[in-house]
Amino acid sequence: MTAQEIRQAFLDFFASKGHAIVPSAPIVVKNDPTLMFTNAGMNQFKDIFLGEAPAKFPRVADTQRCLRVSGKHNDLEEVGIDTYHHTMFEMLGNWSFGDYFKKEAIEWSWELLTSVYGIDKDRLYVTYFEGDEKEGLAKDQEAYDFWKQYVDESRILPGNKKDNFWEMGETGPCGPCSEIHYDGRSDEERAKVPGASLVNADDPNVIEIWNNVFMQFNRLKDGNLQPLPNKHVDTGMGFERLVRVLQDKTSNYDTDVFQPMIQFIAEKSGKKYNASAVPGDADWNDAVAMRVMADHIRAISFAISDGQLPSNNKAGYVIRRILRRAVRYAYQYLGFKEPFLNQLVPLLAEQFKGVFDELYTQKDFVQKVVLEEEASFLRTLENGLNRFDQAMGAAESDKIISGFTAFELSDTFGFPIDLTELIARESGFSVDLEGFEIELQKQKDRSRAATAIDTADWVVLQEGDNVEFTGYDETETVAHVIKYRKV
Ligand code: ATP
Ligand code: MG
Ligand code: MG
Ligand code: MG
Repeated sequence: MTAQEIRQAFLDFFASKGHAIVPSAPIVVKNDPTLMFTNAGMNQFKDIFLGEAPAKFPRVADTQRCLRVSGKHNDLEEVGIDTYHHTMFEMLGNWSFGDYFKKEAIEWSWELLTSVYGIDKDRLYVTYFEGDEKEGLAKDQEAYDFWKQYVDESRILPGNKKDNFWEMGETGPCGPCSEIHYDGRSDEERAKVPGASLVNADDPNVIEIWNNVFMQFNRLKDGNLQPLPNKHVDTGMGFERLVRVLQDKTSNYDTDVFQPMIQFIAEKSGKKYNASAVPGDADWNDAVAMRVMADHIRAISFAISDGQLPSNNKAGYVIRRILRRAVRYAYQYLGFKEPFLNQLVPLLAEQFKGVFDELYTQKDFVQKVVLEEEASFLRTLENGLNRFDQAMGAAESDKIISGFTAFELSDTFGFPIDLTELIARESGFSVDLEGFEIELQKQKDRSRAATAIDTADWVVLQEGDNVEFTGYDETETVAHVIKYRKV
């Protein structure tokens, strides 16, 4: 099955079970101070769960574009290194708003995976909440009993509060969850080590694919749990992981979701993509770079097409950081000295045509923004990397990049601090983050002192004043602000 067919089969299956198919919410969250980006399918239904908005339909399903690069879920450091965490990914989900509960959710998830998709039952493990005495939480016996109707007991595993009890926040709806994991190892390996011991153990071949949350309590301010009058189901399945399982691959990047882009990058760089490179291999960094680029362009493109331009603060800076990370990989390992990432945008837009049309209809604009951002960072990247080499040479003994250098790299060369850390780490160096914070604070104090004199947004020139052009303001990507300084 192609990725397209796999996605459609999910939606068709839940439509056949009476679900309304709804569109994905934007990846950028504009009206919630607690969240910058959509990080799960349930985000757009939060008000329904909180009882603050009515549900339009009792059952819905969709594919939600998600981003996990900040806050509670931040997978950025894993991306490109492991085979199954992305920055941007699709979360397939089905919901019940006070309608069906555990029985149907469990039955249908099993039916979809094993009958519709035909996944080998022996490779699937399911988990249930084991209870937590200290917290006064009971074991989820119900879920266990429903699973027992389909799954051999040796493959139904207890899970702790961290993995198997979901809470929206300090207060509000919460409840136990059941996850489904897939063991993709060879028969030989499976005979040697039982898959049950590898569930939730960071094994790259035994991965979580689906989470079914059963919201049945409301956590009150005093910490007590109150049973919800209406119980809800909230599920999320990683689409790229599902595709990997169904296409029988050992990496999400080997599926038709990522291969067209990886092959394009490989061709243009004149290097081969070696999917099986391991750390220490000569082509490991090349492979990581290709994966990072194919991943990051998705995060950047969807954020921009959903209204978040790269900028110097908050959500905009998160996007700028991701982009600069990708540009650095492209430049340093694959030899892309000119803007290149933007060329992936049309490819991506084509791939998501009919799925997320927002990107397709704005692809020219998105490509232009990416191109400008790349060009701007590439202007300082080479010098920054040289400065980096010098700094590493000078810090050969303690292998610590000083706060001052990290600040200079950020301020003069546009290296976000996490990029500096990443580059340092690749050579076995660390960064003095405290020192960096001190330098940052000093700069803030300096600019506060400066703005105390410079009170307005612009200076009214008097006859006879001389002005000097000081360049474009890099904080604005599309509409450049031209800055002049009175001299
Ligand atoms: P993991 O333990 O692998 O980090 P999770 O428990 O954090 O996953 P959930 O919050 O339960 O993930 O999200 C539901 C599903 O979304 C997961 O079962 C997984 O298939 C998928 N998923 C989660 N994070 C990512 C990611 N960064 N990239 C791709 N898919 C993801
Ligand atoms: Mg996670
Ligand atoms: Mg997990
Ligand atoms: Mg999970």
